[in-house]
Amino acid sequence: QEFELQSQKINRFLENVDHKLVVMSGKGGVGKSTVATNLAVFLSKQGYKVGLLDVDVHGPSIAGLLGLTGLRMNTVNNQIQPYLYTENLKVLSIQGLLEYPDDPLIWRGPVKIGIIRQFLADVNWGPLDYLIIDSPPGTGDEPLTVAQTVTGCQAVIVTTPQEIALADVRKSIQFCQRVNMPILGIIENMSGFVCPGCGSLHAIFKSGGGEKTASDWGISFLGRLPIDPGVVTAGDAGQTMDSLASHTKEEMQRIVDRIIH
Ligand code: ADP
Repeated sequence: QEFELQSQKINRFLENVDHKLVVMSGKGGVGKSTVATNLAVFLSKQGYKVGLLDVDVHGPSIAGLLGLTGLRMNTVNNQIQPYLYTENLKVLSIQGLLEYPDDPLIWRGPVKIGIIRQFLADVNWGPLDYLIIDSPPGTGDEPLTVAQTVTGCQAVIVTTPQEIALADVRKSIQFCQRVNMPILGIIENMSGFVCPGCGSLHAIFKSGGGEKTASDWGISFLGRLPIDPGVVTAGDAGQTMDSLASHTKEEMQRIVDRIIH
């Protein structure tokens, strides 16, 4: 009964969200959270109302990427208030539940599922153009809960170009197919490095693997982002866009344009 009521609340919220995207990856450290955060920031700067939800219970990093560590969750009238990063960008992270941001979380499946559902049911998101969900790597409880709960959700899969990462991407693709979640496309991150000295592109982890996987599986390729030291500076300093190289910004903008159209 309570579950039913919660499902109704979730559906009422989702009816007011035009596009729901879950950012997934086969393995950790490929830049999934970085991509999710940048997508949210770019879309919101273009005037869209965006919600960014971090359901990565074990390694929440969205708040840090946006410079929001120490953020606590407020409730008003029994509704969780997301953090207003800008007028167009509301952020909610599991980090807000932690007293100390470095606390490791040892939560079992049902607890994680409950928290994710609450983040959809009891949050004052308001109407959104885009809800972007940062899911932990792999195909565990969190992406499964998202796939089963967020009607109309589409997956964006982030990978790095080398074969070892691509093997895991194929698992993510099959996961999406099994749970009937459409895949919006694949993004290849850390795809080459533009040398600031000589200006030419070096394929450090090789390049093109993400695009090839996409075409092998009949999935859209959304674009590639280079290795950019500015991404690390930006992430560590909590200022997403400001330190990105202009080439990275252009590629990111191209990806966002493809997602919009
Ligand atoms: P994931 O969410 O897949 O675990 P993160 O987004 O947390 O990965 O990124 C892992 C690390 O790699 C971070 O330190 C981040 O700053 C860095 N990183 C991600 N993308 C790039 C990139 N294109 N160029 C350079 N560093 C990157």
